[in-house]
Amino acid sequence: MPWRKPGLRTALNAAFVLALAALAALSVLRSRAPAPADSSFAGETMGTTYSVELSGSPLSRRDLSRLRGEVEARLAEIDRQMSLYRADSEICLFNRSGAAQPMEVSPGFARAVGFALDLARRSDGAFDPCLGPLISLWGFGPGGPRSKPPTDEEVARARESSGYQHLSFGPENRLQKDIPGLQLDLGAVAQGFGVDELAAAVEQFGVTDYLVELGGETFARGLNARGETWRIGVQRPDLEALPGQALVGVIQTSGLAVSTSGDYQNFFRAADGRVYCHILDPRTGRPVEHNLASVTVVAPDCLTADGLATALFVLGAEEGLKVLASYPAAEALFVGRKPDGGYETIMSPGFGAATAYEPAGNE
Ligand code: AMP
Ligand code: MG
Repeated sequence: MPWRKPGLRTALNAAFVLALAALAALSVLRSRAPAPADSSFAGETMGTTYSVELSGSPLSRRDLSRLRGEVEARLAEIDRQMSLYRADSEICLFNRSGAAQPMEVSPGFARAVGFALDLARRSDGAFDPCLGPLISLWGFGPGGPRSKPPTDEEVARARESSGYQHLSFGPENRLQKDIPGLQLDLGAVAQGFGVDELAAAVEQFGVTDYLVELGGETFARGLNARGETWRIGVQRPDLEALPGQALVGVIQTSGLAVSTSGDYQNFFRAADGRVYCHILDPRTGRPVEHNLASVTVVAPDCLTADGLATALFVLGAEEGLKVLASYPAAEALFVGRKPDGGYETIMSPGFGAATAYEPAGNE
């Protein structure tokens, strides 16, 4: 999910809903042992929410306040780099620039783009950070939502200005496009990138037991306040249900990021009842349509987990598992819809062992 202007946020804003869902799921799981109020804090960023929860030996009040300042500074920096909602961000400057000149970008921005380009190549274009015009056309960009699908001609035209093959990454973090209309959209990795920044800020203060969360993406290390491994709920991907209502299962993590992509997170329903989700298949220029409802990825960092979750959602389980094999430290859980309204899950070979996965028994 890319940025949403906070003022435009509604109860239907999927990032917000997802964050609530994750928080609801997490709070259910943590309800028996609430962390002391002075060891956690939360706020808003990227049109959604974030939270930081520390356990184990607490920080002094002064250090906690310094940590909060560090977190806010890092999140403000990401906003300056990747927000499609402020004209002076690096991404907007690049998107407006012509094709003639390369543009030098900040190291953080370069890291996110470098990861995204590598994933685009490894997924054979199922993941593509250069879908800006198509994402806007389908109503999932900064221009706001739409209620009916675009025409085939409009899709074909937007596809002419899309595609990671038109982006090159030279020395000294220089980005260059070879067609003027090319526009980056880093919505598929920005939240994961943000989670990694939250974790880095916490580690800077020597804390070893914590959970950080941004828009539903998480990274946890060590133990919670009860002295147990952190437990994260995987939401059931219902298009209709209220977020957090039901879980597909629960995973336990330490030193792992968790990210979920799904069609239920942001979509519009056309007058004929057809649902169009926010994840596009770059090979058709249209929202992904298959029986897969969500993909949850765990990986040592959240940039990887977030990017892979989106890529695997486009690819589906069969192709997705092949791409996943080239990321040996990452594992995935695919949740598909069954014709009878239930769900079926497919796990990568190491998912169960990596996460101590417990199905919720309501599939
Ligand atoms: P996520 O919620 O992490 O799966 O990211 C979804 C967001 O990524 C969408 O809202 C778009 O901004 C962007 N996006 C959609 N389709 C793709 C794709 N195939 N590759 C990369 N980014 C995409
Ligand atoms: Mg993603």
